[in-house]
Amino acid sequence: MLAASRFCVKCGKEIGEFVKGLCVPCFLEKGTLIELPKSITVDYDRRSGRLRSGRDWVPDSDGEVAKIVAGRILSLAAPQKLPIEGLAITVRRVQDRIAVAVSFSTIVEGGDGGVAGGVSIPFSAELSVYLRKTISDASMKLSSNYHEAIMQVRFAKRPTLEEGRQKLAEVLALLKAEKRKIELSEAIDTKNVPGGFDLLIGSAKAAKKVATRMGRKYGIRPIYSNKMIGMNDNGTTKYRHTYCLKF
Ligand SMILES: [Zn+2]
Repeated sequence: MLAASRFCVKCGKEIGEFVKGLCVPCFLEKGTLIELPKSITVDYDRRSGRLRSGRDWVPDSDGEVAKIVAGRILSLAAPQKLPIEGLAITVRRVQDRIAVAVSFSTIVEGGDGGVAGGVSIPFSAELSVYLRKTISDASMKLSSNYHEAIMQVRFAKRPTLEEGRQKLAEVLALLKAEKRKIELSEAIDTKNVPGGFDLLIGSAKAAKKVATRMGRKYGIRPIYSNKMIGMNDNGTTKYRHTYCLKF
């Protein structure tokens, strides 16, 4: 039985692994496996300091930058059906850009000389991420007094300054926690009124969740009401939702 002849058509090397007629170093020299861009631009919301990641806005952190870059790499590899293994990303902030070092390996079908299972090809590159300052839809709304809900916090007995502050801080902390998923989860204004205070809240969904959690914690039932305030562009009725918490 004759062994298939194996050598690199470019450099003539006869040992090692071969991809498309080339040894691995010669194959890598062609450098066409994955074309990573030298730089990518990510939207940065200058009001909330968040980054756009797909359809979401996420807190600006090195971890989120790495996730965004990983997403780009995977979407570049997907059409070629290249598996990405051992993806490592390091993020470094330098002045006006973010330097991102990327390394991974991918498996390409060897084929030549009847090698089964493919050949692991290492890849490393550095790219720059630039933040483009912009304003998200949610930030635009929040900065123009948009609020879908009002939370009324009321006290049966006049609270001490400390009690009032503590309840307010608690509601604000819960809204902040919801903001991870709901961009409009913010109080755009707080008003002192007789018997307590009102919070104007961007997201009705967040207001409902926070009211429910406060109610559960303190064993009270939030009182819900709504008021028609007009029509949406698509012809549906627009409401202002009110949640009242009575302590
Ligand atoms: Zn070669």
